[in-house]
Amino acid sequence: MSSSESSNFRHEWESCLYDCGDPTPLRVSTTPENPERRFYRCGWFDNTLGRKCNFFVWYDPPLTGRTRHVILRLKEENTSLCSELEQSFMQQTRLLEEDEKLKIQVKMLETEGRNMRMSVVERDRARYFMLLFLVIAGSLYFFLSWIMSLAA
Ligand SMILES: [Zn+2]
Repeated sequence: MSSSESSNFRHEWESCLYDCGDPTPLRVSTTPENPERRFYRCGWFDNTLGRKCNFFVWYDPPLTGRTRHVILRLKEENTSLCSELEQSFMQQTRLLEEDEKLKIQVKMLETEGRNMRMSVVERDRARYFMLLFLVIAGSLYFFLSWIMSLAA
């Protein structure tokens, strides 16, 4: 068994059957040769300093070629599904950010539209008063001209 045999604790323990007798967790293999196959291995197995123990025993029976193939394919599918999920999550985050920006833009455009409507109303009002002034001034002029012509 190589040191690349990584493992996960499953909270199931066995005592090392060799001299040390230390508690030995049930681990799960992740190698392509024995995917998901459980085993016991003493904590001192890979120790390079001083104490060393060679206790290693498979908990599960050997995998058939078919089982190994199915497990590896499922793991691959799982990995690709996880990455797809991560991508769609990132896309969702991007879309939410874009949505926020668009909402702000809509608010700005609404404010701009309101300001434009108000300035149009003010302009129309100014034109109206100007017209009213011209009509009154004109009428006054003609009225005064008429009075002057009577007085002459
Ligand atoms: Zn041991």
